Amino acid sequence: MIRTLIWLLIWALATQGLIDYRDYHDEFLPRFLSLENASDDNLLLPFNTTRTPGSKESLEIQKLIKNFYDGLESPWELEEDSFENKGLNFNNLVYTLGANSSSYVVLSAHYDSKVEPEGFIGATDSAASCAILLYVSRFLDAFYQNGNSSLSDEKNGDVGFKIVFFDGEESLKQWTAEDSLYGSRHLASKWIEQGLIDKIHLFVLLDLLGSNPAPIRSYFRETHEAYERLASLESTLFKSPPQLDPMDHSILQLNGPSIDDDHIPFYRAGVPVLHLIPWPFPSFWHTLQDDFNHLQQNEIDKWAVLLSEFLVEESSGFADRL
Ligand SMILES: [Zn+2]
Repeated sequence: MIRTLIWLLIWALATQGLIDYRDYHDEFLPRFLSLENASDDNLLLPFNTTRTPGSKESLEIQKLIKNFYDGLESPWELEEDSFENKGLNFNNLVYTLGANSSSYVVLSAHYDSKVEPEGFIGATDSAASCAILLYVSRFLDAFYQNGNSSLSDEKNGDVGFKIVFFDGEESLKQWTAEDSLYGSRHLASKWIEQGLIDKIHLFVLLDLLGSNPAPIRSYFRETHEAYERLASLESTLFKSPPQLDPMDHSILQLNGPSIDDDHIPFYRAGVPVLHLIPWPFPSFWHTLQDDFNHLQQNEIDKWAVLLSEFLVEESSGFADRL
């Protein structure tokens, strides 16, 4: 109880400074994440295409992501993790803010789409999440450029961010351990080899977000406290019924991964994972109906705002909890 009160106090003080960001989101959400306004700034609508590994469309999406980061102010460092598997070229894109940090928060989603059914878009799987990753990156960029805090600031705990766009999450034919998670398996083994894996104190994976608001459960005991902090931010920032419920331990008590997704290779390597995916999945999951008509503007905006502010809180809060 006392712990909760202390946390609420810290949190209340921290959010004082966040009120200004309302203006930021009011200005930039309609420019970057609109489902209707197809301006040059729009980060969401370009994902309304098939994005199968190695395809022309996939390369165009990679170019869009690279152009976006090139246009940011902060020194975002690109790590391209390219490899070949089953005759296809896969490419994970990792953008780091705060190179040489002693600890990282990872925010990730997959940009590839399923090969079948033909023409599958995957608006929630995971086009919307990728656009949200871009939005959050721009928010972090503005946050640190505006002198709110410096990434190398001692009191900030020397925390950096890694934004990961995974390729090849989907199976090419039928889901098996060998035919799925191509990108995340490759990147996790690379980071294990480099010793980077131990520097990740929180790995957040977005998937199937952006349509009807559905319950997002707490899946792992190791990150239940982070889940609670996100839930508390959700109920403070939004009037709509919450999607996160810290009292719902229905999946938590299984005490192990129950959904196959890009977090698995990292989870197995001991990384604390916060998996933001609705359960049950949307009814149109892995069908042609997972298209942009099934996205909801409110839902996309909500996750963009929530994760922007959560990451800022998480990076500074991490130092306080040491
Ligand atoms: Zn999928």
